[in-house]
Amino acid sequence: MSELLTTDFRNAPYWWDAAPLTEHPGGALAPSYDVAIVGSGYTGLRAALTLARAGRSVAVFDKERPGYGASRRNAGFLGRTLKKSYVDLKAAKGAAHASAIYRDLMMAYESTLAFIAEEGIDCHAVRCGRLIAATSAAHFAELERELLGMKADLGLPYAMLPRVRLREEMASDLYEGGAVIPDLGSLHPGLYHRGLMERALAAGVTIFGNCEVTAIEQAAGQGGERFRVTTANGQTRARDVVIATNGYTPKSLPWHARRLVPFVGYMAATEMLPPELLARQLPQRRTVIDSNLDIDFFRPAPAEPRLLFGGATANGLSDPEAIAELLHARLRRALPDLADVRLSHVWTGQCAGTFDMMPHIGCHDGIWYGMGYNFAGVPMGSFFGLKIAQKILGLPDGTSAFERGAFPTLPFYRGNPWFLPLAMRYFAWKDTKLARSRVP
Ligand SMILES: Cc1cc2nc3c(=O)[nH]c(=O)nc-3n(C[C@H](O)[C@H](O)[C@H](O)COP(=O)(O)OP(=O)(O)OC[C@H]3O[C@@H](n4cnc5c(N)ncnc54)[C@H](O)[C@@H]3O)c2cc1C
Repeated sequence: MSELLTTDFRNAPYWWDAAPLTEHPGGALAPSYDVAIVGSGYTGLRAALTLARAGRSVAVFDKERPGYGASRRNAGFLGRTLKKSYVDLKAAKGAAHASAIYRDLMMAYESTLAFIAEEGIDCHAVRCGRLIAATSAAHFAELERELLGMKADLGLPYAMLPRVRLREEMASDLYEGGAVIPDLGSLHPGLYHRGLMERALAAGVTIFGNCEVTAIEQAAGQGGERFRVTTANGQTRARDVVIATNGYTPKSLPWHARRLVPFVGYMAATEMLPPELLARQLPQRRTVIDSNLDIDFFRPAPAEPRLLFGGATANGLSDPEAIAELLHARLRRALPDLADVRLSHVWTGQCAGTFDMMPHIGCHDGIWYGMGYNFAGVPMGSFFGLKIAQKILGLPDGTSAFERGAFPTLPFYRGNPWFLPLAMRYFAWKDTKLARSRVP
């Protein structure tokens, strides 16, 4: 085994140590449900919980063990930003649209934290703040322009940090300063998902693990059901169906698959570090993300002295040792003090991008969906799950700025993102080009 790895190395998410996946056979299928939900991540479970508490019978199906998807694999960064910048969105679609979108993002962020607090879900949710580290002087200027625009229009706080002060935040000389957004948060994604699942089960939701949904057809039933749902456990009927499969959306859902760009995200955890060594790396214990399109990101583990980090998105590797080498090189480059530490966990997860870089919520052919989170699915998945449930319940709160506009695809695209390596190279070229440009 590579010398970069600990002897107890696991090719599995670090989060599964505290929140292991469990079997959930679910028992016999009922002849019908009010709502059938495909996917047991944040989107599916938040919808399920809200519906069950409103008295609906709800079945959640996952083709793997519940929580197998990105919801127990992500970095646990809780934010209110998108890949699509606020300033660019405003220039393209106008101030009213951009501020409606960003107000929904703020609501997604705040409502997720409020939900966790109200439910008493113990998942280390904190407003730790975030450092965005600028990879060049030009990126620093771009960042300032974006944050200034958001502060002027939306009142969102930030503080720019010149290069000479970066070490207050991070033991790195790699970056040209950055910005701190003091109120952004983080959580333990595994414990958050487990808490959500426990509450959904307690509310009466039936979760069928290892039960793939293979077909959804329009078929009127006697009790007002509109759909026949075929699963690995047999057939049932449902009045409403929700697709909550994001980066794991199968080709058997062609309309959705055509609109998503699935890609792999990569993460690692270090071995336990001397606490003072870790404290020197990220003295403020914030989450860190760099300003590139091909991002690197870092955070302290919530309850142990380890660093968790990721990057090199969609690099095409699947061998854990090769992934470990690539990620470790990124770690050494940013935090050279950690050059000799070993990695205890390396894992991957499926994300979903979209052609307009925006998450989408809506209803197609009578079937609800929330997906395309572009790396912002912790708050947005929770929020869209809630919104979809409110829509099914006929509540006025169910509207969202994200449902306006088309969910775009490309001609001949069928969900196989053959262009992804080219896109990543294009992003790297764009980052370099911006880095070499003169500061505006
Ligand atoms: C490495 C990584 C880091 C990330 N970091 C962050 C972060 O820091 N902050 C953030 O906000 N977002 C982050 N994300 C994104 C975020 O995790 C996701 O957007 C979010 O978890 C999506 O939740 P979901 O419920 O929609 O889907 P998922 O949690 O992915 O669940 C989808 C489920 O659908 C199931 N499924 C698929 N097809 C079928 C079928 N036919 N029948 C039954 N079940 C099916 C799958 O098995 C899967 O369990 C990250 C993602 C990854 C991979």
